[in-house]
Amino acid sequence: MPMVKCTWCETETASFCAICARPFCREHHGTDDDFCQECSSEETTKLEVQSGSPTTDEEGIVTEHEDVRVLRPVGEFFVTTPGAIANMSDAELERFYNRYTMLVKDCEQALDRHRIVRSMISMESEERQRHKIHVDKYCQPSTKRVAKAVAASSEDKKVEILAAFIKRSGLTKEKLLELINKKRGQTNGKTTGNA
Ligand SMILES: [Zn+2]
Ligand SMILES: [Zn+2]
Repeated sequence: MPMVKCTWCETETASFCAICARPFCREHHGTDDDFCQECSSEETTKLEVQSGSPTTDEEGIVTEHEDVRVLRPVGEFFVTTPGAIANMSDAELERFYNRYTMLVKDCEQALDRHRIVRSMISMESEERQRHKIHVDKYCQPSTKRVAKAVAASSEDKKVEILAAFIKRSGLTKEKLLELINKKRGQTNGKTTGNA
């Protein structure tokens, strides 16, 4: 391979652009390694991606086709590349085909990998969201309960709450005393038992 100077710097190189045939170094290659920085720049390789247009069935149900990708090559690269490919020798064409088959395979594997990781992140995110909703709905004390708990912190208030409970339960004085004595008996019994 003859070494020549890069079109843009003093570096010696044996790489020639597949489109314009100008030599380029490792610093001055384009978006794709087989092309120079001018033929394959971000601007010339611009590709617009649109999702498929929504369709309406007989019953009037509209289906969005976000998974269908419509590619619209807008950059000049897509106009100049077919001509460059047409001028390749059979050997060059085969080399190019094998190289791009490998690039596509590598990118597909990376795409699958990224999608798997993204869905893992998405699952974790949904799980956290579900947990957050559950905590908000069932586990956080309501304002009323918090207010009651604060009130109950004073002894007087505890008595007040107990009194309200007795009133609501409709227990008679006799029945209440009977319950208290029973409870005392249990407690004393326990104390004696433990002693
Ligand atoms: Zn260069
Ligand atoms: Zn070029």
